[in-house]
Amino acid sequence: MFYSFKKTSFLFLALLFSTSIIAQDDYWQQHVDYTINVKLNDVDNVINADMTLVYTNNSKVELNELYFHLWPNAYRDRSSALTQQLLEEGNTSLYFATEVERGYIDGISFKVGGANASHELDNKHIDIAKLILPEPLPPGEKVTITTPFMVKIPSSKFSRLGQKNESFQLTQWYPKPAVYDKKGWHAYPYLNQGEFFSEFGKFTVNITVPSKYIVAATGVLQNKDELEWLNLIANKSEKSTFIKKDNSEFKTLTYIQDNVHDFAWFASKDFNVGKEVFALPGTDREITAWTFFPDTERDLWKEATTYAKDGVIHYSRYVGEYPYDVVTAVHAPLSAGAGMEYPTITVIGNSGAANVLETVIVHEVGHNWFYGILGSNEREHAWMDEGVNTYYEATYYIKRDKYPNDNLNENLMSTVPIVSKLFDTDRLNYMELYKYLYTIVGSSGYSQQANMRGDNFGSANYGLVVYMKVGALLYELKNYLGEEAFNNCMKEYYSEYKFKHPYPEDMQKVFERTSGEDLDWFFKDVLNTKEDVDYKIKGIKKYDDRTIVKVKNNSNLSVPVSITQYHQDKIVNEEYAKGFVGDSILVIKLIDGADRIMIANKGAIDINEKDNHIRTKGIFKKWNKINFKFIGYPERSDRSTIFYTPAIDYNYYDKMSLGASFYNSFLQTKKFEYVITPMYGFGSNELIGRVYTNYNFIFKSSKIQSVVLDAELDYFNYSKNKLELEAGNPTTEYQKYLRVNPSVEVNFRKKKFRSSINESLVLENKSIHKNKFNYDVINGIYKEVDVWNHLYNLSYNYSNKRVLDPYEILFSSEFSEEHSKLSATFSQSFTYGKSPGEFSFRIFTGVFIFDDSELNDYRFRLSGWQGKNDYAFD
Ligand SMILES: [Zn+2]
Repeated sequence: MFYSFKKTSFLFLALLFSTSIIAQDDYWQQHVDYTINVKLNDVDNVINADMTLVYTNNSKVELNELYFHLWPNAYRDRSSALTQQLLEEGNTSLYFATEVERGYIDGISFKVGGANASHELDNKHIDIAKLILPEPLPPGEKVTITTPFMVKIPSSKFSRLGQKNESFQLTQWYPKPAVYDKKGWHAYPYLNQGEFFSEFGKFTVNITVPSKYIVAATGVLQNKDELEWLNLIANKSEKSTFIKKDNSEFKTLTYIQDNVHDFAWFASKDFNVGKEVFALPGTDREITAWTFFPDTERDLWKEATTYAKDGVIHYSRYVGEYPYDVVTAVHAPLSAGAGMEYPTITVIGNSGAANVLETVIVHEVGHNWFYGILGSNEREHAWMDEGVNTYYEATYYIKRDKYPNDNLNENLMSTVPIVSKLFDTDRLNYMELYKYLYTIVGSSGYSQQANMRGDNFGSANYGLVVYMKVGALLYELKNYLGEEAFNNCMKEYYSEYKFKHPYPEDMQKVFERTSGEDLDWFFKDVLNTKEDVDYKIKGIKKYDDRTIVKVKNNSNLSVPVSITQYHQDKIVNEEYAKGFVGDSILVIKLIDGADRIMIANKGAIDINEKDNHIRTKGIFKKWNKINFKFIGYPERSDRSTIFYTPAIDYNYYDKMSLGASFYNSFLQTKKFEYVITPMYGFGSNELIGRVYTNYNFIFKSSKIQSVVLDAELDYFNYSKNKLELEAGNPTTEYQKYLRVNPSVEVNFRKKKFRSSINESLVLENKSIHKNKFNYDVINGIYKEVDVWNHLYNLSYNYSNKRVLDPYEILFSSEFSEEHSKLSATFSQSFTYGKSPGEFSFRIFTGVFIFDDSELNDYRFRLSGWQGKNDYAFD
């Protein structure tokens, strides 16, 4: 019986095993092996090359065509997607580039299996081509494709492929097949914001350069003499002298790398060379770290090989073993971000400080795992490389061998003590800083969902959401699963998908299988919405030995909720409950001495943590201690913080006035915000000032983005009474005004997030109270007169703030008891010529419905209003 039971279970296991084999069999990917011979012409900034690639069709279908990326064409003319994206970001450099600065790829003439084959450029994108195969390529078959090509290298000032002062950055430089997978072809135009997706294979690249150049490239250098020479000049404290034994004009260097999906190379006469050979812990392998940098970076880069080494060790330990024999970091001109990753080699721009350089090198080296080895589709799911990589970049600084302190200041901010002092950052670790930075956009209503195409993000959101939010979310997922379980998930993901193209659903499957947890809340919900979790504690009640915490979830995200018990700000217990939406109760056992409970500080990012606290005793259980802070800092959620700064103002009548501003929000958006600025005017010797409050209604999904209720109160002196001055009356008073300015501002949602069109409607009341001192001729005395003037204004603004030909339309109507007027303004600028010239015009039309004022106080004026004439005190 026992035996047979075992037998059945064995059978069952075998069944399971075979289904998993079937599942594995289902996965396929294309394979491309490249051999490229390329020669650099450093006078004309051109490379000439010929390429042979062997393409294996591992799909289940016959292929009649192959899509290729011809990405140097992104720099060819104004029609390219790159030019358009840069324009969207206000960058006109490529749009107005000269012929000399531009770049392109030419001379392509494909042969497939020796026979001529035609290709056609994509209708929309000049950097995508379709190669028509002379004969269909059946499943399982391979075909050899050859072509010559030349690339005119553009200036470095646009993006990643470029040259500047005889320094060459050859990235995305050759015709490359787009990925074809179970979801079809992935042919994309080149973009600055929006990365890559390519097929794995083996690269053999023979690079011919003038002999004085030093080359850094993907893969392992094969030339012994060149290696010997590099060893000779490496790690020298003085600039290397580039005298070679033979004086040949050119040298040809061969680099080979298997299991990668791209190849980049860099050449410069000014490179210094750093080298460090290190053992990879837990293996018997040795890896060589190379660095290449100009003289100007010598000081900063003296430890750079160590940063690359430490990065490789960190990722190997927590994700999976580094499979390559070299890791290289190059300093070169770069106009897209602080650094850029390519297989085994990363390029770093100017970083300015050693800890920034270390961070960037570790981050870019880390992309060998998230982009390189786990070759996810970066264009469609940018978070899979950037977000996950940011998690590891941050954890490099959190409680690791090299950085044992969980403290941002010691690990990162030591070079800028003033920043850490001002912002009180020693409370935070690296990941908590990223979480805080994300909440700046998260609280504003302008966040975007993380799992989305890279080019759909606003420029700031690309960093704040794709990198920081996802990094912080993974940190919270690690808290929820526990560090060991999380690490196991990632290691499993690595070993199952290395040298493959995982999608988010693949990552979820591995994480769920390894952790035994349902993680839909994370992969399906949190990553696919711009909404953030918002739990809130409503109350607390004790029943015998149990405590009931009443909780409400204001969001639609049912994510696990953590319950943390504190004793004098030290955690004494932490547990998780299942997520829910709306109201619920959590039943907990209160630990002896626990004086405070906080919910949802771990697991996901709770966008408003201020209402997540409650004390276990006392009357005002939700009352927080008040905290005064200078200027601003990442707020503590268990404090009510009042920020302050000194305030200085000057007007003709109050003269110099000094005071302070007190406010409740710093960078983050709050529902209710205030700024109170009491001041003392030294000219008038009076208390004056300003109170500003607003209430923000942020809508999650409607045509309206936000409605802001505003109220401003100003109290200043505006004029001396002239008569009184003439009379030389010693009891001179100043005329004062009190302006009450409530308004409602409706901001309409943009049709596309990256659109430059803004639309808003503002209804405003300005009630101005003046106390005038009028001279009473009959009685010969000054009489104080109270004057109230109520102005109402309704305006509609539509503007397109695009960088070329921006325009703006403004309709405005204003009325008071004395007048009513309407106006319309249209302004437009035209950008013309090859170098940007601008021609602007403005059309204004206004009409009075009626005007009962004595002195035409409300007439339209060309110039702005001044002093006493400024009836609205704007
Ligand atoms: Zn990155």
